[in-house]
Amino acid sequence: MSVIVQKYGGTSVGDPSRIMNVARRVVETHEAGHKVVVVVSAMSGVTDGLIKLARAVCPGITPPEREMDMLLATGEQTTIALTAMAIQNLGHNAVSFTGAQAGIVTDGVHTKAKIQEISPRKVQQALKDGSIVVVAGFQGESGDGQTTTLGRGGSDLTAIAIAAAIKADLCQIFTDVEGVYTCDPRVVKTASKIDEISYDEMLEMASSGSKVMQSRSVEFAKKFGVPFEVRSSFNNNPGTLVKEETMSMEQVVIRGVSIERNQAKVTLRQVADTPGIASRVFKAIAEAGVTVDMIVQNVSLAGTTDISFTLNKDDLPKARTTLEPLLSTLGKEISAQDGIAKLSVVGIGMRSHSGVAAKVFEALSLGGINIQMISTSEIKIAVVVDEARIAEAANLVHEAFGLSAAK
Ligand code: ADP
Ligand code: ASP
Ligand code: MG
Repeated sequence: MSVIVQKYGGTSVGDPSRIMNVARRVVETHEAGHKVVVVVSAMSGVTDGLIKLARAVCPGITPPEREMDMLLATGEQTTIALTAMAIQNLGHNAVSFTGAQAGIVTDGVHTKAKIQEISPRKVQQALKDGSIVVVAGFQGESGDGQTTTLGRGGSDLTAIAIAAAIKADLCQIFTDVEGVYTCDPRVVKTASKIDEISYDEMLEMASSGSKVMQSRSVEFAKKFGVPFEVRSSFNNNPGTLVKEETMSMEQVVIRGVSIERNQAKVTLRQVADTPGIASRVFKAIAEAGVTVDMIVQNVSLAGTTDISFTLNKDDLPKARTTLEPLLSTLGKEISAQDGIAKLSVVGIGMRSHSGVAAKVFEALSLGGINIQMISTSEIKIAVVVDEARIAEAANLVHEAFGLSAAK
């Protein structure tokens, strides 16, 4: 008998018939002799709908984060109860638990809390009693008893963290595509399903826009050595195995292409090329809670230089209001531009193959797509391009690396 954690995302529990489909799949696993913990997301669109409601009652301000967590946690609470009812209706014992009841203890950072520890005593007892356990994804409780949430897509993290805590034999992430693809199959129609991928590649893809997995959940899986499978909740086809790197993985130069829309660029012009300037700029930005992505500083000319950085478009107003008061002591001018997007190519094989960057640039140049910024890491090359052309760029680069035919 194995212990299996199965996570079903928003689309997979999007309406009553889909919840009944999940219940049937869970019962099949249980009937095959396994102990099952099911982690569910809010029904699709529910979390976005709740965020809209919060904004509607707080015009012009950011809704208070503690109350935001109270509100958002209700989405998953609906689904756990409905899923447990549907399972019971099939004649099996099932019990639903909130994140707090499942023993998920987090820090107190509302809307993006980090899991500190898990005490899965209740979950283990219920499994021992023969129940199927249904746990609310995306939520936890801080040490002082406040409801918290784990950031968008956080049900993936709940599933992986519970799998680690109860030492599950298998962790399966069921979603609305058949696995992790060489690019978002909604953007590149010819993208192919990847059979297996290393934690590092999955992490780079997730953190550069492939939202099939929440990046923090992949980080957690890597840290605690939890292999997991991403697969479809609508059929029984094998999905993608995410696991520790193996020798054969290095032979594939590029594993996949990710895109991230909604990016913006801020440029500070003619800032003094002296020690301490970058530190002041980015300290102020960090204190405002804005996450910066790429940073580029130009070659100095006559003692001044330009600094540009990218960030999420939603953070642009905050970045502007933070930097404008500092402008008189920092530089001559601040400019901001949105309507840009980032394309990243990822693969651990890049470590031992040269010419990858040149191939990306060539593919884009043949398509007449201008590159505005470039950054590289050991296993990733990222470029910023016009958002209107990002899908075209993804298709061109995907094609240049022959990923459609790749397995
Ligand atoms: P869930 O609600 O099940 O958590 P998500 O919407 O969070 O599902 O993630 C699944 C979606 O991720 C897919 O529908 C797909 O459009 C998108 N996606 C982005 N990049 C990829 C990729 N490389 N492979 C597969 N899906 C991807
Ligand atoms: N419901 C949350 C969200 O939409 C968490 C999740 O689905 O993983 O982000
Ligand atoms: Mg998701």
